Amino acid sequence: ALDASRRELQAAYQLVENELVSRREAEARLRDTDRRKDEFLAMLAHELRNPLAPIGMAAQILRVGTVTPARLKQTCEIIDRQIGHMTSLLDDLLDVSRVTGGLVALAQERHEMGGIVRDAVEQARPLVDMRRQRLSLTLSAQAAQVVGDGTRLVQILTNLLNNASKYTPQGGVIELELTQDATMVHIVVRDNGIGIDAALLPHVFDLFVQGERSPDRAQGGLGLGLALVRALVERHGGSVSAASRGPGSGSEFTLRLPLAQGAEPVPAAREPGG
Ligand code: ADP
Repeated sequence: ALDASRRELQAAYQLVENELVSRREAEARLRDTDRRKDEFLAMLAHELRNPLAPIGMAAQILRVGTVTPARLKQTCEIIDRQIGHMTSLLDDLLDVSRVTGGLVALAQERHEMGGIVRDAVEQARPLVDMRRQRLSLTLSAQAAQVVGDGTRLVQILTNLLNNASKYTPQGGVIELELTQDATMVHIVVRDNGIGIDAALLPHVFDLFVQGERSPDRAQGGLGLGLALVRALVERHGGSVSAASRGPGSGSEFTLRLPLAQGAEPVPAAREPGG
């Protein structure tokens, strides 16, 4: 009887101990989220403040009054560009909170993936060209159909392509592969850029998470892009994952979306189950 009650006591201790450990872990997670939010706010303030200096300078130029038409045009272009940058940051911020909060209605239309990929490539092209990178496309399942919101599907891919470009040095290579199996469409976006640290890899899709800022970066971001990608992919019944062999060896993002039911059968690129 003594043994039994001792065992019971030990079990109870264990329970309390486990509870304490999981509470401490939860607190650590909360502190971590809190810290990331602080960092994010500092970053947001910084990113929103940056465009104000050139806009202020433009105002000074215009105030002088004696500007040539060419100078006037140039000055207005500066203002437009800076406002565009601020607007897209704020749009992303509003969008990510609405999508993750489930407040955005998605269209439910049938789309061929070939068209979605082409639209995304067209949107990412200016950045890729500016950075003199090569974009190689392997489209083995162009006719594969998915059901969803066309604009959002393009946005998902554009985000992955823009990241591949941003985090790959000038002259690098970006590959996109489109395949399908019996039930899913697979899209791989691969680059030979800076890669992702093993410690960062499990968190890249979390809100506000950002890696080291490389001096070569095309434009500042806020760590929203991949959180938005994951939220949108999941709302389409799909999944997305990231892989990298570490710093310097490139990154690979794999997107999986369910094939539309009752779609015309398209010869699969690979034998299922192979
Ligand atoms: P942002 O690009 O604004 O920082 P994202 O949510 O798009 O935010 O990406 C989060 C982080 O994931 C980035 O800061 C970067 O460190 C890392 N990352 C994303 N895509 C790539 C890529 N193709 N190669 C290397 N790192 C990447």
